[in-house]
Amino acid sequence: MKKRIGIFGGTFDPIHLGHLIVAETLMDEFSLDKVVFIPAAVPPHKLGQEISDARHRYMMTMLATCSNPGFQVSDMEMKRTGPSYSHDTLAELIREHGRETEFYFIVGADSVASLHTWNRIDELLSMCHFIGASRPGCMPDMADIRRRFGPLAEKIHCLETPELEISSTDIRERIRRGRTVRYIVPEAVEQYIYKERLYL
Ligand code: ATP
Ligand code: MG
Repeated sequence: MKKRIGIFGGTFDPIHLGHLIVAETLMDEFSLDKVVFIPAAVPPHKLGQEISDARHRYMMTMLATCSNPGFQVSDMEMKRTGPSYSHDTLAELIREHGRETEFYFIVGADSVASLHTWNRIDELLSMCHFIGASRPGCMPDMADIRRRFGPLAEKIHCLETPELEISSTDIRERIRRGRTVRYIVPEAVEQYIYKERLYL
């Protein structure tokens, strides 16, 4: 059987339990050999927005995932300059692993809805599958996806996963207002946020 690797790209500013539950559930449902979390150095959809240093986001992703033997973290997007396009990341991964490995790009339902805005999405869909996880308040419109992508829509799979109404935006806001984020992020991530005085 071909090796199956899950790719989880994101800003992870900070990583939270919503991300971890999605990754674990999809790793299980799609029999993935592992999930590689890839913090985006320069997220193309967030240009002009203030985001934390990639080094902090990478460290928090490491802290959150280190106890799961199926999870890995890659700094490959941090080694490139310019916007972190998933297309370039997949091309690099295919060069590294060869065509014998199947790649499954993990996204939340909100990202599924905006896939048509991604850089070179048609080429990206020819390089990997997309697996979309449920997210509260977001319902991917499969008819719209089929209309936009035609036969390539077969590479987009949406799955019901346990829904958590958690976002990094809300966590940053809670920290700024001095509210608790306990049990929303892993304990080590919470401690790191306080130690590095992030989001104040
Ligand atoms: P922000 O509010 O800063 O955009 P976020 O919580 O959306 O942060 P991202 O780093 O932007 O987190 O998300 C990375 C990926 O994880 C995206 O594909 C997003 O859809 C997905 N995701 C994030 N939070 C959830 C969640 N609670 N449930 C399902 N998917 C999620
Ligand atoms: Mg987001």
